[in-house]
This record gives sequence, structure tokens and C-alpha cells, in this order.
Amino acid sequence: MSELSSNPVSTTCPYCGVGCGVKVEQGLDGAVKVTPDQKHPANLGRLCSKGMALGDTLDNPQRLLYPEIEGKQVSWDVASTEVAQRFNSIIEEHGSEAVAFYVSGQLLTEDYYVANKLMKGFIGSANIDTNSRLCMSSAVVAHKRAFGEDLVPCNYEDLEQTDLIVLIGSNTAWCHPVLYQRMVAAKKENPALRVVLIDPRETQTADLADLHLPLKPGSDAFLFNGLLAYLADNGHTATAFVAQHTDNSVGAINEAKTSAKDVVAVAEQCGLSVEAVNAFYALFASTDKVVSVFSQGVNQSSSGADKGNALINCHLLTGKIGKPGMGPFSFTGQPNAMGGREVGGLANMLAAHMEIENSESRQLVQDFWQSPTIAPKQGLKAVDLFEAVHSGKIKAVWIMATNPAVSLPNTNRVREALDMCENVIVSDCVSNTDTLKYANIRLPALTWGERNGTVTNSERAISRQRPFLDAPGEAKPDWQIITEVAHKMGHAEQFQYDISLDVFREHAALSGYKNEGERCFDISPLADLSVEEFDALQPFQWPLKENADGSLVGTQRLFEDGKFFTPNGKARFISVSAEMPATQTSDEYSLILNTGRVRDHWHTMTRTGTSARLSSHVSQPTVELNPDDADMRGVKEGDLLRVHNEYGELCLPAKFDKGLRKGNVFVPIHWTKQFSGSSVVSDVMPPIVDPVSGQPESKFSAVEIEAV
Ligand code: SF4
Repeated sequence: MSELSSNPVSTTCPYCGVGCGVKVEQGLDGAVKVTPDQKHPANLGRLCSKGMALGDTLDNPQRLLYPEIEGKQVSWDVASTEVAQRFNSIIEEHGSEAVAFYVSGQLLTEDYYVANKLMKGFIGSANIDTNSRLCMSSAVVAHKRAFGEDLVPCNYEDLEQTDLIVLIGSNTAWCHPVLYQRMVAAKKENPALRVVLIDPRETQTADLADLHLPLKPGSDAFLFNGLLAYLADNGHTATAFVAQHTDNSVGAINEAKTSAKDVVAVAEQCGLSVEAVNAFYALFASTDKVVSVFSQGVNQSSSGADKGNALINCHLLTGKIGKPGMGPFSFTGQPNAMGGREVGGLANMLAAHMEIENSESRQLVQDFWQSPTIAPKQGLKAVDLFEAVHSGKIKAVWIMATNPAVSLPNTNRVREALDMCENVIVSDCVSNTDTLKYANIRLPALTWGERNGTVTNSERAISRQRPFLDAPGEAKPDWQIITEVAHKMGHAEQFQYDISLDVFREHAALSGYKNEGERCFDISPLADLSVEEFDALQPFQWPLKENADGSLVGTQRLFEDGKFFTPNGKARFISVSAEMPATQTSDEYSLILNTGRVRDHWHTMTRTGTSARLSSHVSQPTVELNPDDADMRGVKEGDLLRVHNEYGELCLPAKFDKGLRKGNVFVPIHWTKQFSGSSVVSDVMPPIVDPVSGQPESKFSAVEIEAV
């Protein structure tokens, strides 16, 4: 690299929900050097392989550079006018429920805010959902039910201050690598720290675990109902805390005992030994400081919200919450799923963590936005939204920064839906995703390194993404694209944004608007930030408070005062009737397919797939299976296998993994038709969702395999 040309730019890694800070320096020859930010509280000088390779992924030859209508390059004026006219004429003829936005945890908070405002406050529908529905919406429901709002109580330092980390449905070593590094360092520092891994697979994360419970896929709620009953029966209730700060403990315990009669029954239901279950229960009960990390293995389930609450119930009963080194901790998948939640980027949320089905909240937001209308009810969640596109109920869908043609379950049907719809608008930074093939209108968006705004990570820390590259071609920030369309739809007066900071200021102001402390999310002291202050903004955890001397301070940990955000200020135990996955294996489809990430790829590989060094870690998709299952079927390693069920099929080489339970197979999520020809694992994932959260069951599909 040549001499460095400028001061380093501090920004945030665009991949996972850890939200690591990075420093970017550019040489005079244009080469980019990315190093960890030593001071960012998320990573404190660490980065994983994906973060270290960010510089390799900047020159994507497949960038989408110009707006196009039906394959022809047009000006921005023509493109935004066309989008506005199509939306307006459909709304006029068929009503506001006939249009939809499908957005993404890859968007910045400012993009999310403007999209949500246009759809809910000016179009008047809540048909805006996000790919974050696929990764954390069950955790959102669990938080709201237990705490009154979607609140993550913990912070990353709790992982270092605890004596027991329970990892549930999380391959932390590969999916949140910097937090895994922090756990490894914490264990070295504190040899008394114990780690329990609860996961059907023996992943690399098991290397850190003192105890691994390879439970039957989907049986988590039985395990945690059993734990609740064990804690209640063996004198581990934090009696004063439960009495003063919670509701419904008795109901939840009674329900838990119905599904988890005793440890023997739990062990059998979960496919574990009685000794292992007892060892885990005794460890949880006897350790004061426990952090329970839950991730996609819990959330991506037909009963994901209940699993989250079954776990939270155990923390409430023992009072292991709101103090250093304690609490249930949801690790978010995407870099800005949390920011999307803050501005209401889910079909069932409004903005600033307000409820769409609360008439006072609707009036408040409508007053603030000065909008002509407000969505009166929840919109369609991701899977239902694309089903409505398929049925023709939704006649125009605008997809932003995501690739549903390969990421939603039962993708053959999603592709059919997009094929039939005549008004598919896609904003993206690249030109060659599987979804873009169906776009009638293609809009070029900025990406990491070019965008300017904010993201929120898993510990509620809002960090800046700062630009260090020029916009290529005619690409624009998403908030600006949406704003231009809003103007042409007739809403110019209420969409007056010249820079992303204008959006951030409005978002911050809304978070404090008529908030007398009854809502937790509040960053309103930032509503008047200057450009210089926004440029210099350091990461902070919301809610933001003002000290007596006027200085601002973030909130490291929630519920320290035992006050929750329910109407009576008490946390709620949720009675959980444990359920196994909605479908089960059969003679026809005898194997359980599980899905997940590999260490060095991200989503559908549009960025990581361009890096040779990242692609070398796992160079091709495979079907992983237990050698005993392979033996029974006469399969040899490397054989091409057809994986199929009633939804679709894919063909991949076999790879043996002794760490898989017998009867289980595993396929990574990343490879798309673009990268592997025909193998998209979502083709065989069922469109079954959690009835409360709408999150698809992406960890459990009954399939059969045969050699091709
Ligand atoms: Fe980026 Fe996540 Fe790796 Fe941190 S852990 S560098 S946020 S991918």
C-alpha cells in the first residue's frame, strides 16, 4: 500500500449484529486498509475474518449504476416518477393494502425511518416488512410480552462479568465471532467461568463449552420449562423480586410442569441424558451470575416466541436480570435489525417502539408526522406478504437491499409470485441478485463505504456508518430514493430531507415526542445535532439521558431498578405450552434439515462472494450428514446428493460431520442460484411460521436424500 492519503475514517462493519467498529485508511493509489477500532466498545480492537477482509470487497464489478425501467436505462427523474405513478394509481384503484415494501436489516436506520414513514403515515398501510422477520422477530415478541417493550437488557461487558454463559441455538464462534473471542478471553481471565452450549449440532462453539447439550431440534421449550419447574421446586425462587417486580409466576410454573413433568421426561423429550439435563439445571440454579444468549436456533421456529419466553421466565424466577453479568441476551443476526426495530420497520410496529394497534400511539405519531392518514392495523408479515403478491392482492412491491427470491422459505413460490407481479421495484447496490431478475424497475443504491448514517447493534449501541468512497455511477442513498418517490406521490412537504442527518434528527425527536418515560427508546437529546456533532458522534447505548450538568449518557443495562415497561411496571411470566416443530419426519421424508451460516460468508454472498480469501474457507455448499446416516444409505463423502421434499429440491455433494445428531442434515444458507447454479436451501424450507411472530421455521424441514 502506498502512503496513506487521509486520516482514518471510523465506521461500523456492515455484516453481523455485533456491530464492530473499524478504521478505514486509503492509500494514494486508492488501496483501502481496514483495521479494528481499538476504542469501539463492541470489539475493543478485535475483528473477525469477514471484518478484516472488508477492503477486498469494495470493487464489485457487478454494481448497479443507473436506474432502469424494463431493462432500459432512464434518468432518476423518469424512474422516480414512474414508481410514484404506479403506486398512486394502484392505491387509487385498489386501496393502500394493494402495495407493499419489503426492506432489510442491511439498511441504515435513516433509510428504514423514511420507508416506514411513507408506508404507514402517507400511504396508510402497514404492509412494510423486513428480512429481519427471518432472524429475530420471535425475540421481539418474547421481549415485548415479558418486558412490555422490545428491550435487550444486557450489554457485551456482561459476557465478561458473568460466571455462566448459556448459548442456545447459537454457533457464536462463526456467527458472532468477535463476541466469541470476548468469551474466550473472559474464560481465560476467569477460569471459574462455565459455558454451556445447547445446540443439536456440535459446532466449533462447542470447543469453548464445558457442557454441550445436543438436544433434539425444536425441543428447547421443554428444556426451559423443565428448568423453571426445577428452580421452583428446589428453592431457587428470588421470592422478593418475583413478588415485587413480576406477574404470573404461578401460572407459568404450573404450565411448565404440565409439559415438563420431571427431569426424566424432559431428558426423553429433548433426546438428552438425565445426567446432562441435571448437570445443566444444577449449574444454572447454583450460579448467581448467568447470561443466556439466544439466537437463530431459538428464533427461527414455529414456536420461537414461546421458546424465548420459556428462557426469560427462568431469569425472572431467579432474579438473574438487570444486574452485572446476568440476563437473557438476544444476539441479533444483521447489522441493523435493531435500528429497524427502533423506527418501526416491522409490519406490526409503529415507530420509536410504539404499538401500531394502540390508538393513542397512532394519534401521537400521526400528529408528529403531520400525516394525512396512519395505518390502522398491522400489515402483512414477510411470508404472508409474498403470498399476497402471489394471489394478486398486492399489486406492487418495492424490495430494498434484500434478496427474497433466495432467502424466504419455499422460494419456488416466492419466485412465481415475483414473476407474476407486474410492478416489482428493486433498489440494490448490485445488478445480479436473483431477485433483480424479476424487477420491472431497478434503482441503484449506495452500499457500505459510501453511505452515511447510523446502525444499532445487539447491545442497543447506536454507531455511525461513515462514507469514505464516492458514489459510483448514479447510485443514491436509499433514504433519498424513497424521499424522491414520496415527493412525486404528493408528499413533498413532510419529506424535507437534504442529508441523512435531517432524517436522524427527526427520528431522535420522535423518540422523545410526548414521552413521559413510559417508552424506553428515547434518544431525543440528539434531535438538534449539528453536522459536526453528527460527524463526531461516538457509539452509545439507548436510552440516552441527560446528566444534571447537561452531559449525555447512554444506558448500559436495563431494569436495574426493577422497573419494566408494562402498564403496571412489572415483568410478565408467560405461560408456555411447549410444542415440537409443526411438521415432523415421516417414512417419505425421514431426515431433519437444519440451516445456518458458515464463518466467512454473509447472507447471499453479494459482498463476501467477491473475496477470494473469504471464499477459500468453505469454497462450496455441501449437505452435511452424520457418517452413520450415510452408511445406512450407502453414501460416500463427495457423492452428489439430491435433497428434496414437497416444496422443492437441491443437489449438493455430501460431507460427513460426526457432530450432527443422527437423522439430521445441515446445509448452509448462503449459496444462491447466482453462485451455485441450482442449489438454494430455502427451496426446501417450509413456509411455516410462528403464529405470533411470523418468523419462519428455518431450522427444521423434513427432507429425504438420495444419491444422484
Ligand atoms: Fe463484522 Fe460481525 Fe465480524 Fe464484527 S463480528 S467484524 S461485526 S462480521
